[in-house]
Amino acid sequence: MIISVASGKGGTGKTLVATSLALSLIDNYKVQLLDCDVEEPNANILLHLALNQSQPVYIPIPKVDETKCTYCGKCAEVCAYNAIAVIKEKVLVFPELCHGCGACSYLCPESAITEEGREVGIVERGNSGNLELVQGRLAIGEAMAPPVIREVKKYIDPANIVIIDVPPGTSCPVIEAVKGSDFCLLVTEPTPFGLNDLALAVEVVKKLGIPCGVVINRVGIGNQEVEQYCHREGIPILVRIPLDRNIALLYSKGISLVEGMPRWREQFVRLFRDIKDIVAASRVAR
Ligand code: SF4
Ligand code: SF4
Repeated sequence: MIISVASGKGGTGKTLVATSLALSLIDNYKVQLLDCDVEEPNANILLHLALNQSQPVYIPIPKVDETKCTYCGKCAEVCAYNAIAVIKEKVLVFPELCHGCGACSYLCPESAITEEGREVGIVERGNSGNLELVQGRLAIGEAMAPPVIREVKKYIDPANIVIIDVPPGTSCPVIEAVKGSDFCLLVTEPTPFGLNDLALAVEVVKKLGIPCGVVINRVGIGNQEVEQYCHREGIPILVRIPLDRNIALLYSKGISLVEGMPRWREQFVRLFRDIKDIVAASRVAR
């Protein structure tokens, strides 16, 4: 079972939910938490695992042998990202723009392009008992999150309960992280901003054909519009977490919700049961 935990915007409490769910299940299941928020992986601030394995992530970028090149310009024509340009008798490669798709080397009529790896980030791993953390970290100054997310997801073991902490927003890294999930939990807050970003995130998961449910965090601020939206759209609200100074204090000290307030553990176990029921029902309906 793969459960992704996403939110249309940052700062809604997505990591709090992902870590609480993971820690609530480890008594009964083997759990993998994949931190795919690779620009700012912070699940381990709450989990405190020793990350004792680390592997670089490379993307293949073109290297041109100008002794073979005829400056025909085909490579620049096929590059959708403007990462390679042919100017008179010079081929320029812009590594930061290159997505490593390989089209230029494949289509070069002179076989003048080979590929070399460029490091764009790392994947780190650690485990304790039934919990394994796999986290991606984008190198400073890099913009290409999807290759790092793909590497993190290669560690998915389908025999486990897999929880994916998705980057905030609704762009390519989110889709890369969420696709293939059995369920997507959308974390929001009951404010007009929360509603706006939730609606965008719902559109994305609907397009991907993934069943979803909502966690409303900081209940007590804002208004009822998120609740009304969910009722209108038929999206189940699975957990409501109140605006509580003690929860914020725990977070600021790096203590997970279920460790600092063990009564929440039962809520997250129930959340998992609800998710399993929804996934089973959606499979029957297909
Ligand atoms: S496609 Fe090959 S031969 Fe043509 S300009 Fe690019 S590198 Fe040179
Ligand atoms: S590998 Fe793809 S993205 Fe990179 S320069 Fe070649 S065509 Fe462009």
